[in-house]
Amino acid sequence: MIDLSVESLSQSILNHLHRMAHTEQSADTQAWYQALASALSEQTNHDLISTEQFCEQHALRHVNYLSMEFLIGRLTANNLINMDLYQLAQQTLAQWQVELADVLEQERDPALGNGGLGRLAACYLDGLVSQGYPAVGYGLHYEYGLFKQYFESNQQRETADCWQGERGYPWQVKRPELNQEVGFFGHVEVYRDEQGKMRRRWHTSMNVKGVAWDIPVLGYRNQCVMPLRLWEAQAIEPFEFERFDASDYTGAHQSQIDASNITQLLYPNDNHQQGKRLRLMQQYFHCACSLRDILRRHLGAGHRLETLPQLQTIQLNDTHPAIAIPELMRLLLDEYHYEWKQAWQICQQTFAYTNHTLLPEALERWSEALIKEVLPRHMEIIFEINYRLLLEVDKHWPDDIEKRSTLSIIQEQPYRQVRMANLCVAGSYKVNGVAAMHSELVKQNLFPEFDALYPNRLCNVTNGITPRRWLKQCNPALASWLDRHVGEQWPLQLDDLRDIEPLATQPQAQQEYMAIKRQNKQRLAAWVEKNLGIALNVDAIFDVQIKRLHEYKRQHLNLLHILSLYYRILHEPDFEMHPRVFIFAAKAAPGYVFAKQIIHAINCVAQVINQDERVGDKLKIVFIPDYRVSVAELIVPAADVSEQISMAGKEASGTGNMKLALNGAITMGTLDGANVEIAEEVGDENLFIFGLTVEEIDGLDQQGYQPMHFVHCSPLLTQTLDFMMDEQFGHEVIADMAAIRHNLEHADPYKVLADFDAYVAAQKSLEESYLDTAKWAEMAMLNTARMGKFSSDRSIQDYVNQIWRLQSIESVHTQQAAQG
Ligand SMILES: *Cc1c(COP(=O)(O)O)cnc(C)c1O
Repeated sequence: MIDLSVESLSQSILNHLHRMAHTEQSADTQAWYQALASALSEQTNHDLISTEQFCEQHALRHVNYLSMEFLIGRLTANNLINMDLYQLAQQTLAQWQVELADVLEQERDPALGNGGLGRLAACYLDGLVSQGYPAVGYGLHYEYGLFKQYFESNQQRETADCWQGERGYPWQVKRPELNQEVGFFGHVEVYRDEQGKMRRRWHTSMNVKGVAWDIPVLGYRNQCVMPLRLWEAQAIEPFEFERFDASDYTGAHQSQIDASNITQLLYPNDNHQQGKRLRLMQQYFHCACSLRDILRRHLGAGHRLETLPQLQTIQLNDTHPAIAIPELMRLLLDEYHYEWKQAWQICQQTFAYTNHTLLPEALERWSEALIKEVLPRHMEIIFEINYRLLLEVDKHWPDDIEKRSTLSIIQEQPYRQVRMANLCVAGSYKVNGVAAMHSELVKQNLFPEFDALYPNRLCNVTNGITPRRWLKQCNPALASWLDRHVGEQWPLQLDDLRDIEPLATQPQAQQEYMAIKRQNKQRLAAWVEKNLGIALNVDAIFDVQIKRLHEYKRQHLNLLHILSLYYRILHEPDFEMHPRVFIFAAKAAPGYVFAKQIIHAINCVAQVINQDERVGDKLKIVFIPDYRVSVAELIVPAADVSEQISMAGKEASGTGNMKLALNGAITMGTLDGANVEIAEEVGDENLFIFGLTVEEIDGLDQQGYQPMHFVHCSPLLTQTLDFMMDEQFGHEVIADMAAIRHNLEHADPYKVLADFDAYVAAQKSLEESYLDTAKWAEMAMLNTARMGKFSSDRSIQDYVNQIWRLQSIESVHTQQAAQG
């Protein structure tokens, strides 16, 4: 039980200050932050242990969420809210004239993820613990998270992200008693055991230590705390070598690769595979440490491996942890001496896999040569899994070579590669997509043969976001307004927000709601003025596109629209528009040239437009650097319009769309990912849908897509593309503008030009709605009211019902109470 008073919290904070060689007089804001977070972190350890003990005593089934990324964001404010200690912390600091809000701003975001996939993992841990479902998150303890972004001459530059800071990150606890050891490289020995049975044994030639760090995940006001366990790779000390097979540990690789390199950095690619050896080593290191820890917990509680599937399920967040499947097989076969059939049954009943993308460049394939070098035993096991899979395929479709080659885990051309997604489908009892539309496309386009071979294995769980962080924490004004109107249970029952529907047409409530939006816009405007020196008019429409920079997300479609507005302001004397502020935030992967060209183009256009007196405050463009969770928390509550304009069929779900709609931004979107379900929930009249559908895009492709056709049909598009090359945007950007234009006119793989006219028209109609202030307020309020479905609690419930079959801690308490 966390039981704190102002006195006890003060004492603890002062102790931590002293430990850092500070006094209340000498402490700066950073020191106060460190002391506060350390004091709180200390409090959570007791609940972490008691939650774990309760689950073990009652032999509760756990979900183990394996993810290479957890984009958790700042923890102190979130944890204060979940512990219901926000006011107490405020009062405690006030006695030293210290502002809690200033202290919280000192925290850096642990950026241990790229974007949506990592943020989803964080929202799911929050949802699991808040509903008391036994869970452990397993990830990597990167020394450097996602790079920090800044702009120089309007171009993206990157620097290292030292998220732990000088004094270390106060929310993590080292757990040396949980450390593991993991090997790489080497060779496979074939030998006969005492019974004369042929067995295999992997002799590794490089071994590293996996150091366990726990970050506590706190449930919302339920005293449950569960671990996010992150593994850090370290060299094994020379004096520890004797514990290993003496013949191999000094092998070639031990000295060549520095063990700590393995978890040095997060690969900055989003939706794109690079195929680097160190990345494969990261993946295996992550899986090997996590599996050993899962088996330690299971066997340590006195259970047998046969019951692993009853007590543990392992969710693979994309294929990044796919190597866990052959690794569990290896442990069962080589170390615990199970027969293949039984080992495979245990595996198949333990793993479940989430597919996050259909983009071909993001589907992981590892070359046979690389796997053989780094993980020779796993390559053998993968071949055996594939051999048996193809026997099943032959039984189902006799002599069908085509079926064999599409279902095969091994791809032969242009060189032999392992298809990690096929491995995951074969080795899992459930496979889910992340939104209804995406899951349908997974069935129809990606895995139709698997769907026929294994009926009912493919399913859908639509993504969700935690309303604790994405409403209660980031939008306190709206949160307390909602408390007054629907009661205080909404953070755990987001469907309660439906109760504000009747208010959506009441002038008084509309004014209150829009006053809160305005206040949030002022907060963002003040931040922009202070940090970027751009003055914003809060009467303007705040039109927001915040997400990774990727061609398929089509930030360049947004740019074309902006250019078309600018062109018309300059060249059409009677053109009128309501003032708009376009807000971007986006990182491009450092090696993604085209994405960086788009950033450069947006920044150069912004610089010209923002300084053009002829434009006045009709148009402003702000590119907020270093997009991360804390930046999203600032922008989301201030948005009027949410840009979700990916080419239909390419955005698996999106979650930014959910954060923004929940906070009353109106979606301008294509029929893609979860936009489809958002439209169903909020109603077609409360958002703007435009553009080609998946079917229409298929039709265009079949005809042979001709982007120039759309240029010839649209005078505004023709003018806009010409205008891109205007000298006034600066000589430095001409080459990048030309590259973008050339891409659009000659390839346009994401059909930007085909959607341009529809986009411009939808934007015009959005503007008309905005001018009707009562109508707009009603639309915004109905968005907030009807987003209950997109709580991560609902997603977790769907996972529990369809896949995980967990029992909550609370339901055990209820059972016990009923039994007296
Ligand atoms: C929510 C979130 C994302 C995902 O945004 P999409 O619009 O769904 O791509 C990416 N990065 C951060 C920091 C987020 O908070």
